[in-house]
Amino acid sequence: MRRVYFDHNATTPIHPDIPVFVKPFFRELFGNPSSLHWAGRDVRPYVDEAREQVAAMIKANSGEIVFTAGGTEADNQAIKGAAYALSGKGRHIITTKVEHPAVLNTCRYLESKGFSVTYLDVNRNGLVDPDDVRRAITRETVLISVMYANNETGTVLPIKEIGGVAREAGVLFHSDMVQAMGKIDIDVRELNVDLGSFSGHKVYAPKGIGILYVREGLEIDSLIHGGHQEMGRRAGTENIIGMVTFGKACEIMMSEMAEENERIEFLRTRLLSGLEEKIDDLHLNGDPERRLPNTLNISFEFVESESLLISLDFAGIAVSAGSACSSGSTEPSHVLLGMGIPPEICQSALRISLGRENTEEDIDYALDIIPDVVGRLREMSPFYKRR
Ligand SMILES: *Cc1c(COP(=O)(O)O)cnc(C)c1O
Repeated sequence: MRRVYFDHNATTPIHPDIPVFVKPFFRELFGNPSSLHWAGRDVRPYVDEAREQVAAMIKANSGEIVFTAGGTEADNQAIKGAAYALSGKGRHIITTKVEHPAVLNTCRYLESKGFSVTYLDVNRNGLVDPDDVRRAITRETVLISVMYANNETGTVLPIKEIGGVAREAGVLFHSDMVQAMGKIDIDVRELNVDLGSFSGHKVYAPKGIGILYVREGLEIDSLIHGGHQEMGRRAGTENIIGMVTFGKACEIMMSEMAEENERIEFLRTRLLSGLEEKIDDLHLNGDPERRLPNTLNISFEFVESESLLISLDFAGIAVSAGSACSSGSTEPSHVLLGMGIPPEICQSALRISLGRENTEEDIDYALDIIPDVVGRLREMSPFYKRR
């Protein structure tokens, strides 16, 4: 059976050049980069190079990069680190209702420790109004956290403007930029961010590596204490394999990104127009203009997204219902609910996220299968028949 992977916002396959590149790090290049002898000296330049490669990808200096164990840790480090460092100044945080659980649940934890958090509404397209951010700021506010691109809908939020509002008010600004990397250009200075989270496995590097961008001169508390690694900001012997592969993935993206995204966006457009042609009562969720080139979030009215996901899996097509983080539960997505989409439309939402290994044939196959499956499931729905 054909297998089609349409869930790149959950994770990506490792880029085919990476296993070849990383092989020496499993044998010869095993040293601890803190060691003064040859074994340490052998690996040190690769760590430095990786730091420069990821810095170049987001237009930062290499001294502003802290390697972490992934996007979740970067979000925790940014939010808790800033909140703890500034708790003498104030204990109020502003975020949105559509953040990733790594941000939302970190904020909820801080609420249990005496911080207060404002969760801003978004509009029907998933956008936050920078004026709402301005109005939410109080004398107690120490941090604003708004994601760059939403993982479920692909909507791109106006963080440059929000960062400007934060800067004007003298409040730190963090952005979860995990989904933006490799899909849209990132210039951390131009975007007015002080802290930015990124993850390797969303950009064709392995799982378990991420970075936090920390603007030069900014001091926040550490979460992991121990040795002096990462300039004292994140202790523990470095994940060398994670670092060098993330660096390599960034180098590859720098050369492939523009062309790849154009190709992926073309496939996405073909898929959407094909589905619209063959299926009625279909809703595109998210902003139709301000969005990532690879993501589609579509509600197929009268169909439960879980049944749709299972039926598509039977046909070899991997998609996601809501976000991977909340699957296993049949709760409607907090992102779509936050956008004011009625629960019954949320319940029928499917996320299709394309990537670099998808082909025209994948789209043809999906256009063969999806309308069929939706039609069959609708035939079983009492609501669809009774219309
Ligand atoms: C995947 C993801 C994360 C978590 O990153 P991990 O490396 O899996 O911990 C955080 N935020 C967003 C928006 C994501 O898509």
